[in-house]
Amino acid sequence: MDKSIFEKALNKGALCERLTREEAYSLAESITPDRLHRLGNAALSNRQKRFGREATYVFNIQINPSNICGSGCTFCNYAASKTAPHAYVMEESEILEKVERLRPTEAHIVGGLNQIWSYRRSLGLIASLRSNFPDLHIKAYTAVEIDYFARTGKLSESDVLDQLKEAGMDAMPGGGAEIFSERLYRLHWKGKTSPKNWVRIHQLAHSKKIPTNATMLFGFGDTWEERIEHMLILRQAQDDSGGFSCFIPLPFQPGTGRFIEQGPTPLETLSVLAISRLVLDNIPHLKSYWPMTGLETGAAGLSWGADDMDGTISEEKIAHLAGAATPIGLARTKMMETISMAGFTPVERDGMFGEKENIAQGDFE
Ligand code: SF4
Repeated sequence: MDKSIFEKALNKGALCERLTREEAYSLAESITPDRLHRLGNAALSNRQKRFGREATYVFNIQINPSNICGSGCTFCNYAASKTAPHAYVMEESEILEKVERLRPTEAHIVGGLNQIWSYRRSLGLIASLRSNFPDLHIKAYTAVEIDYFARTGKLSESDVLDQLKEAGMDAMPGGGAEIFSERLYRLHWKGKTSPKNWVRIHQLAHSKKIPTNATMLFGFGDTWEERIEHMLILRQAQDDSGGFSCFIPLPFQPGTGRFIEQGPTPLETLSVLAISRLVLDNIPHLKSYWPMTGLETGAAGLSWGADDMDGTISEEKIAHLAGAATPIGLARTKMMETISMAGFTPVERDGMFGEKENIAQGDFE
């Protein structure tokens, strides 16, 4: 690769300008000691132009109604068969009680694919949450779940999205994208939504004015080329439908180490954040997802292009069942302290990345 292409990519990226395909690919070659810090600096310039020194977080909880799932994704340490000792099913009353007790700004709802939490019951949960907590931002159900609801509920995906929106769903999370690689799809998650379908369902949601996030799982046998390609596919999708609010790279958690011993190193995670910031010029926000990066690396990510640290996330289950060593929730005060120590100004936000007004006084214990 011509060295000048890499230089051009850094210069354009630092100015928030669009990179060509070739320039985007040249960043994958920046993972050498002499280039790494220049990549980080370019991503920091870019994020400072967009957000100054502010870094956001949200007072949120995760609701994972059940981990029973038979999809068989090879990398998943969260799913359980019905009879497994760690299988669980939450009751709706338990979920409502949790929201009542914690009074979060946002509820992030995702779970396994099963008929205990069927489509009708999942739809009913959204309606109950909406009627009990009118101000709650409800970010619910991945494209994988929408696809499953449509198939098992004998409805179109369009109908499922309309009904969920009507019931009170505000936005969709970005999970289930994994990495847009047919090679890895065939190896690791053939039992669920394909990369093409994932993109199509998100674009369908955008056409209905449902904003969504996007993720990328990395560090489980994927190549740098596949990561850049994932970002370019997303960039094109965003040009076409415009509804992605945030991109969230997720470093793989090896968990029981069934097929890979170690996930990405902190520097690799920071590099992915930086490249994402430079390539995805049209997705406004970039999240450093601390439950999977680790708190220190997550905070360092703010200097490598990220502008958001997700949230307080009381009782996170998915990353922790995969072996994440981070706490299962953070107090609001700890989140603010972490962001400040990284040299940024903490700003509490609402579910759609706007500054939160009238911040309640509550906190997690
Ligand atoms: S990643 Fe999701 S769909 Fe796949 S096995 Fe785990 S819970 Fe099921």
